[in-house]
Amino acid sequence: MVKVGVIGLGTGGITFISEIRRLRVPCEIFLFEKRGLKVFHPCSIPEALEGKIELQSLIEPFGLSGITFMGQAREVDPYSLSVGFENNGSIGKVSLDFVFVATGGDVVLPSKNFFKATKYDDVEKIKQLLPGAKRIGIVGAGILGLELASALSVYPIQIEIFEAKDHILPELIDRGLSEKLLKKIDRKNVFFNFGRFVNDISGFDIVIFCTGFKPVSPLPFEIRVDEYMRVIDPRSGKPFDRIFAAGDCITYDFKIPRVATIAAEQARIAARNIKMIVQGNQPEEKYELFVAPVLVKAFSYEVGKVGRIHKPSDLQKFYLDLKVLPFDERKIHIYAELDKNGIIYELQAFCDLRSEVRHIIDISYISMKKMISVSDIRRFELSYQPEVCKFPDPVTSFAEFVSRRLGIL
Ligand SMILES: Cc1cc2nc3c(=O)[nH]c(=O)nc-3n(C[C@H](O)[C@H](O)[C@H](O)COP(=O)(O)OP(=O)(O)OC[C@H]3O[C@@H](n4cnc5c(N)ncnc54)[C@H](O)[C@@H]3O)c2cc1C
Repeated sequence: MVKVGVIGLGTGGITFISEIRRLRVPCEIFLFEKRGLKVFHPCSIPEALEGKIELQSLIEPFGLSGITFMGQAREVDPYSLSVGFENNGSIGKVSLDFVFVATGGDVVLPSKNFFKATKYDDVEKIKQLLPGAKRIGIVGAGILGLELASALSVYPIQIEIFEAKDHILPELIDRGLSEKLLKKIDRKNVFFNFGRFVNDISGFDIVIFCTGFKPVSPLPFEIRVDEYMRVIDPRSGKPFDRIFAAGDCITYDFKIPRVATIAAEQARIAARNIKMIVQGNQPEEKYELFVAPVLVKAFSYEVGKVGRIHKPSDLQKFYLDLKVLPFDERKIHIYAELDKNGIIYELQAFCDLRSEVRHIIDISYISMKKMISVSDIRRFELSYQPEVCKFPDPVTSFAEFVSRRLGIL
């Protein structure tokens, strides 16, 4: 039996534990979590603020048995593979065979007067202040800022959003699509201020900073990983054999959305590679630097993105508006980038029909992973489309449009 330390019981930690158990890796799990043996669901914070669900339902007791709970990890020595911890005031140290780190990220506040909407305590305080609030400032029009503004806009409160860049969702979608989306947001109590970098702000009852996550590392350095999700030793530039990481705690040299889908995928890869090592093999499973499907649900729209981090230079870029259903005026707005062979490199979409955006993003994701070109997608779609159907579905239209554009047909 090997001893595996799991630091952080968020998306990455839970996924890792389930995967390592599913794979039946003969191991003893030592769990480190600073908030106790509880699971917290941050993705539903906007719904809790909107009043759709109870705030308390975001926290659940952890159900898996047979795991040794160690408390908060205080320090990790990557060279001796030991973790120093604190549990109810007592401290200790444990030596392990493997360490998996998924300690997430945190929003850095410029002052204590402001809030972040990532922690339970802050969200609880925001909820208490809501009944007396007239004006709320939200700093950052990224995924989090937009979802929060959307959730809070159901109250009779003026919401002002401050964004340093010149459009909404600047790290997620292209400017053209952002502008189209912005025009469709018709809440009378929501105001956008672009091109304003905000560090201090007054005149608001509540100010929430949604300015991006800073990775949290329990190691004595920033966490960077190789393609097998092994942590890299900054001294040697080589990976540690037995320390893995996943999710928001990782520092990248490029922009990557901080989302649960990526943390979960990386955690599964780390678990599979640990299994390989326990069996006496080399790690094999690689994490492709993909932007996994990212979906934002705000102002009654769903916005999705999927893409690769490293792109070839000769890409074709275009916008496409697809009719969603026959006899329906709604359209999915799409921005896509393809190489000259019709392989999709990036796809962004938004619409007020959620299932359709998901459908397009999911198909694109699988296509990208399997290197399927748009003309292949078209053939596949046409093969099961009933001949009597006069109206092609959005994916077929998308594939056909792109194929024609590329001169592949
Ligand atoms: C409001 C909000 C809404 C979101 N909505 C979505 C969404 O709709 N879709 C989506 O895909 N993503 C969403 N996300 C992002 C998603 O929640 C994160 O990307 C994901 O949870 C990251 O997983 P993780 O395992 O890296 O970190 P986390 O899930 O943050 O887990 C980290 C854990 O480590 C613990 N920890 C930290 N330091 C220590 C230590 N020293 N010792 C022990 N434990 C420690 C923390 O207490 C925490 O439990 C949202 C995030 C927020 C805040």
